[in-house]
Amino acid sequence: MSRKDWKNIFILLGSLSEKHKDVLISLVGLSVFTAVRPFITVVLTGMLVDAVYAGVDSGLLLRYVAVGVTGTFLMQAAEGVLVMFFNRKLEYMQEIQGQPLNRKSMAMDYEYLENVDVHETRQRLERLGGWSLMARVLSVVNKILREGVTVIAAVFVVVPMFIRGSHSLSHGFVGSWLMSVLLLAAVLLLIMVEFRFGNYFNKKMADARKEMSGQEARYKYYLEILSGCERQKDLRTCKQQKLYEREFEDIARGIKKTIDRIAGFTVRDAFTQQSVSAFSGFLVYVFAGLLACAGLISIGGVVTYAASILLFTESVGKLVYQLSWLGGNAGLAKDYIDYMGLPQRKHEGTIPVEKRRDDRFSVEFSHVSFKYPGSEKYVIRDLNLQFEIGEKMAIVGRNGSGKTTFIKLLCRLYDVTEGSIKVNGIDIRKYDYAQYCDLFAVVFQDFQVFDFPLGENVAAGGEVDEERAVDALERAGVGERYHTLPGGLSTCIGKEFEESGVTFSGGEKQKIAIARAIYKNTPFVIMDEPTAALDPESECEVYAGFDKMVGKKTAIYISHRLASCRFCQDILVFDEGKVVQRGRHEELERQEGLYKELWNAQAQYYA
Ligand code: ADP
Repeated sequence: MSRKDWKNIFILLGSLSEKHKDVLISLVGLSVFTAVRPFITVVLTGMLVDAVYAGVDSGLLLRYVAVGVTGTFLMQAAEGVLVMFFNRKLEYMQEIQGQPLNRKSMAMDYEYLENVDVHETRQRLERLGGWSLMARVLSVVNKILREGVTVIAAVFVVVPMFIRGSHSLSHGFVGSWLMSVLLLAAVLLLIMVEFRFGNYFNKKMADARKEMSGQEARYKYYLEILSGCERQKDLRTCKQQKLYEREFEDIARGIKKTIDRIAGFTVRDAFTQQSVSAFSGFLVYVFAGLLACAGLISIGGVVTYAASILLFTESVGKLVYQLSWLGGNAGLAKDYIDYMGLPQRKHEGTIPVEKRRDDRFSVEFSHVSFKYPGSEKYVIRDLNLQFEIGEKMAIVGRNGSGKTTFIKLLCRLYDVTEGSIKVNGIDIRKYDYAQYCDLFAVVFQDFQVFDFPLGENVAAGGEVDEERAVDALERAGVGERYHTLPGGLSTCIGKEFEESGVTFSGGEKQKIAIARAIYKNTPFVIMDEPTAALDPESECEVYAGFDKMVGKKTAIYISHRLASCRFCQDILVFDEGKVVQRGRHEELERQEGLYKELWNAQAQYYA
């Protein structure tokens, strides 16, 4: 295990000590208790044997026994309490482990969410035990401490005993020390061998698990394909079953191979451990017998000596094993620390957003260029445009022309690479970020409606203003459906958690997402393909009611269907990250250019 690995483990434990000092204290207490307890038995048994040999009276013998039994009992009781406390905490931490990760992903810069490396780190953490990483590390640290204390306790028991023996017997003094050194060297050599093998096997197992994590992700994906009817539709109509089956079997075969590999390493690892401990035990007993024959230790001492040395070697073996586990999994600790430590790059700003009575806001894009982090390609190029609150603006253009990116920039999910965006003359990076976000309500193409009660979905929170929520639902065109719901706003969306939940169609869910945007009552309402999941009738309804829906607010919507946008006063035509045309439908239709091209291409389908 490298120094960096140790550092990561300490950082992990350090982060724990901020909130859960009691866990760390109980961990240390527990380790010491469990390590020391066996030695009480070992030492007392040795003393008892010697006392019997020396023919001491039964009263003293009884006292030895009483002290031994009481001491062990008290330690066992204390240990029981600590074990209960520690395990309960461990279990709780296992349960709540996802919380810090989730909090981090909610607060991190948006760009990280679209970053493949960050995404993979999170996936790895989820799959390879990130949820219980802290609990697992704690449990291993507990074992390391316990075995460490056992090793020290064994040294404390054996060495004085040995020194006493050598003082009382001058002959053979040098020889016995020499033999002890040889024994220790042999045992240490065995331990080294075990360490090397343990390390090797643990690393191999960690690599295999990492590989399996990728395989499992694909396996899960393939399983999910069959879970709903949506994807099966494509699968069946395109006759992809054979392809699916072949892929699925390939993955399953791959997983089986990895599992077999892990099992192979586990068996070999266990075999090495057992062999080492059996051989050390043999050496120790032979040596203890020789010492007793030489008169260097007493008969009782043989028991104490041999048992202590065995505890010592066994603990060193376990210590090595736990250390190599920690080494093999230090990568996960690093993943966790890296993920939790992702820096906030986005400038949060301090200027409060002006609360205007007239709700007037003007937006200006000035020479804005943008490329996604890690990409060399500009997806927005030298964009200049202005618009005022109250305007209804549509953005059209081919796929990949930068329409969604334009919205992401306006909402500050990303900051511009060059140029600036100003709201009421002030660079948006200077505004207090949270207040700035409150200016926008966005319905993205891949909008999310959660399996919560309808009211909470619309209000995007626990506190629901019922009147406002119903009004928003009605304005979004889902009022009729709402009035048929027996549970009203308390009706749970979906049946995942509630038997009484109601399944809504894709179009209805989209309208609920629109209602949420209306409920937010912000100066800007942005809809990215707001009608993609709607049937033509509902689409017409949404567009016809758009003015009513958003009132005097600025509405920006992106649509592929040009027919939907023709009612807009202001249409922006995007091409390769630039606005190539701007105007009303009637003007653009007459001009030679992309709009006319797209319009004519689509008109065939409307005809
Ligand atoms: P539109 O909404 O017009 O279909 P987008 O704004 O989504 O287009 O995408 C514009 C370009 O940016 C596309 O070439 C797309 O591949 C690229 N792009 C979108 N998101 C990312 C991202 N997170 N990282 C890198 N490139 C991206």
